[in-house]
Amino acid sequence: MLPIEEFFPLLTTPRKIIITTHQKPDGDAMGSSLGLYHFLIQFSHTVTVISPTNWADFLEWMPGVNTVVDYEANKRRCHQLIEEADILFCLDFNVLHRTKNLEQPLTQAKCTKILIDHHQQPQEEAFNYGISNTGKSSTCEMVYDFIVASGHGDKINLDIATCLYTGVMTDTGSFRFPSTTASVHRMIAHLKDIGLQHTPIHDHIYDNFLENRLRFIGQALLHRMDVLYEYNTALMYIPKSDLVKFDIKTGDTEGLVNYLLTIKGMRLGAIVIDRDEERKWSFRSKGSFDVNTFARNHFEGGGHMNAAGGRSSDSLENTVKKFREIIKQYENQLQ
Ligand code: 5GP
Ligand code: MN
Repeated sequence: MLPIEEFFPLLTTPRKIIITTHQKPDGDAMGSSLGLYHFLIQFSHTVTVISPTNWADFLEWMPGVNTVVDYEANKRRCHQLIEEADILFCLDFNVLHRTKNLEQPLTQAKCTKILIDHHQQPQEEAFNYGISNTGKSSTCEMVYDFIVASGHGDKINLDIATCLYTGVMTDTGSFRFPSTTASVHRMIAHLKDIGLQHTPIHDHIYDNFLENRLRFIGQALLHRMDVLYEYNTALMYIPKSDLVKFDIKTGDTEGLVNYLLTIKGMRLGAIVIDRDEERKWSFRSKGSFDVNTFARNHFEGGGHMNAAGGRSSDSLENTVKKFREIIKQYENQLQ
């Protein structure tokens, strides 16, 4: 993978460009993809954002989201777009299988591939150019850096600012995680100078749910949570029946894991949700407990030091049982 700076001279010649990101894109995935989209279209490139799957309703307000193509709903069109593309940007994921069924078409694509990502252990050999920096708060911050470093900072308009703010906000837990550096605040100050309105973005993302989601959370907190005090760990497990009963949609479970770490003294929060195709884990930690390694070693996952995900193809009951067993070996690390 060549340094991304070497790609800058190629930026200004109009090309067919695809931007893609991980499945079930979150604020950072969608924000970085659309932020880059609004930048690249200013050079007369033909740009299409392809999402591997659908996305949460709370992202539907984003500038340009109506141009995003859902791969699962438009496979044939996406295959053609990928085949014709000159350049492919892969944002906010480290390994191609995070694009689910899009992995194969992306692997086979003959075009120039560029990675911009902040997850650990990227699949570097799959990309021609790229930047992987786990010290960055978000891929949105990296897209901002990319635009500025390319010498085109003057092209950052309100659409770009709005999209990039969204991902920095969601990936830093609204500017509270340790990844929120001085450069993050300087970037946001620049976006504010351009005219960014941040309050509506918080409202769109965090205050835009239906009553059923709050009742679902109530049920989960009352009946689906165990606090394992000896391991400073809180565990939550959501059966499919709850998802059906409360009509839970993509995005409704986002952030649920964060409740677990609000209990005093907790070092690890773990939630597993019984999705159709797999049991999906989310892990969050405070301090030095490395959930990236934990997820990698035990649940086919990964991510960051303090936020990671994983999966299991076993039943919900067995998956939870396995977690309870595994956690015993981490008793010391969790003190
Ligand atoms: P979340 O719990 O919000 O799904 O994910 C937390 C972080 O871990 C995100 O940065 C996400 O991209 C990453 N992540 C989630 N699931 C996986 C996974 O299965 N594999 C890897 N490598 N990263 C994941
Ligand atoms: Mn991210």
